[in-house]
Amino acid sequence: LKLGKIDADTIVFHSSFRYLKNTFNEPSEVVAMLCGGFDTVMMPAFCWLSNAAPPLDDRPSDNGCDYGFYSNFDETPKPFLVETAGIEPSMGTVAKAFLDLKGVYRSNHAWHSWAAYGKRAEEFTANDDWNVANIPLKRAANAGAWVVLAGVDLRSCTALHIAEELAGGEPFVRWAWDRDGVKRRVAASGCGKGFQRLWPHLSHLFVDSEIGGCGIIAAPLEKLILEAAEVIKKMPDITICSTECIRCQNMLKRRGGVVDGWML
Ligand SMILES: [Zn+2]
Repeated sequence: LKLGKIDADTIVFHSSFRYLKNTFNEPSEVVAMLCGGFDTVMMPAFCWLSNAAPPLDDRPSDNGCDYGFYSNFDETPKPFLVETAGIEPSMGTVAKAFLDLKGVYRSNHAWHSWAAYGKRAEEFTANDDWNVANIPLKRAANAGAWVVLAGVDLRSCTALHIAEELAGGEPFVRWAWDRDGVKRRVAASGCGKGFQRLWPHLSHLFVDSEIGGCGIIAAPLEKLILEAAEVIKKMPDITICSTECIRCQNMLKRRGGVVDGWML
């Protein structure tokens, strides 16, 4: 299988099965087709079940975090065990089926875990670091991967958080329970709800393709990240979803931008 003009050995796949189910009966059929067609396939396996309340003595300011949210948070340790951890339902049922695939590798990160299958899966997912966000995705981008969006838009494109980092927006700090029940810092990306506003600036990088007759779009990851970073540098407020969003407002501050009049 070669999906149209996608010139890659590795793909990163973001999808909505609601969109793909016109063609596929089960999410596992999508997974089988992708894994049969590409050397390496990667999908997000984010999981927030080990989320812990920020320690009272470690609460950085401008951290995109409403600390008040945690005032009555359950303090029972919920250790992140990569071998049994669940997946956030918003990743979609295809990502869930992919994670359940025999032989899939998963990176050890209590917030931004990634699942990968195939030739370079082990390499991409090895030695993840809780203090960094999306290392496996960065490795895939460096290796020439393409990102495929099936029934989802740029809001689901995690790679744009890497662009955000390149534009000066360091990830936020959150906390999670580790294997030993110890509360540890974990790097967490900002809000992606405004990412579709980048579309007019990035659409030229995408090609139309199809999977089983369903239209999809795809772009070379590294190029996408580098160009998005340049756009964000020029227009720091372009991805801001609203003036009410603390994550977006704090991220804007990290980028050295100010809230422009358009959203007020
Ligand atoms: Zn936001």
